[in-house]
Parts: sequence; C-alpha cells; structure tokens
Amino acid sequence: MRIGKILDVVEAPDIIGKAMLALGTNPVPHIVTPDDATVHWLLPRGAAHRRPWPWARISRYVRVRTSLAEFGIPGTDLTDGPGPHWAYPEGWGGGHLADEWLVEDLAVCALMHLGQPAQRCELCPEPLWAEDGVRVVLPRSSLQKLSSDTVRVHAQCARTQASRDRHCGPSTHHITT
Ligand SMILES: [Zn+2]
Repeated sequence: MRIGKILDVVEAPDIIGKAMLALGTNPVPHIVTPDDATVHWLLPRGAAHRRPWPWARISRYVRVRTSLAEFGIPGTDLTDGPGPHWAYPEGWGGGHLADEWLVEDLAVCALMHLGQPAQRCELCPEPLWAEDGVRVVLPRSSLQKLSSDTVRVHAQCARTQASRDRHCGPSTHHITT
C-alpha cells in the first residue's frame, strides 16, 4: 500500500490505542504493531491537513506520517498475534479509515496519558511546548485583540523579534521569563 499517494498514517504509542478503545467514542479500528509498541490509524490522504492546528498541538505525542514509502497493512480479519493486527472498537460500524476529527479523541487520550498539548506562539505558527516558552511584553499596537499585555512565545521567536526591533526602532519587548 502506497502511503502518501492514497493514505496518511497516524502513529501513536500503544497506550493511546488502549485509551482510545477505553474511551469508546471513535468507531474506527486501528492497527497494533507490537514490535515497536505503536498503533496506527489510516486516514484519507490530506485529511489531517484540513485541521492543521489540532494535529500540530499534539504532534509531540501523535505523528501524522505522509511520506512513508510503504506501510504494511494487515488483513482486516487479523485481530491478534505477535505481528501487526487490527484492534476493533466496540460498536464498530464497518470501515477502516478515520477522518480529521480523530484528533479530538486522540487529544483527550494524549492529555490523560502523555502530557499537555502545545500552546500557540504569538509570533510564529509552530507549536509552543511548555518548556520552550518565555513571556514577553509586546507593543500595544499588536495587542488590540489580546486580553493581557504579556504573551508566551518561543524563546527564539522573542530573540528574533527583539533584534528586529533594535534595528527598526526603540525596543518595546521585555523578556520576563
Ligand atoms: Zn514561535
């Protein structure tokens, strides 16, 4: 099966597979790969990219793989064994492909078992993980829609912005870590 042309593969630690079955709100089966303790969901190509931020904020725990050359998909009646096999949720209604909304339940399970999702950085589109950020005071003009005058951003983004300000005018950024 060609991944990347037809399918995206969502990969997570096996504890997320167990948690998804226990949660019981997503009717789509996943593939268990005991060898490397991972589980995989199959999505139509490009599905995850329709909701980029919800996927990005859990990308530390759950990866969307779009460039695997090949991915072995076990026969759909294979539900046990030492090799890759399917795990079907209770109330499975048929079908083997998840959609972009899978991310909602994955986020719940990741929070329960693996950790906090990322926040948004105010200066770039990349996810901001708890240990990466610094608090900065941004100029008033860019804060009209924000309730507070300090925001969390990547340390690197804060440095880039501060050096840009030094070149373009008075510095209005105060890093307060
Ligand atoms: Zn940033």
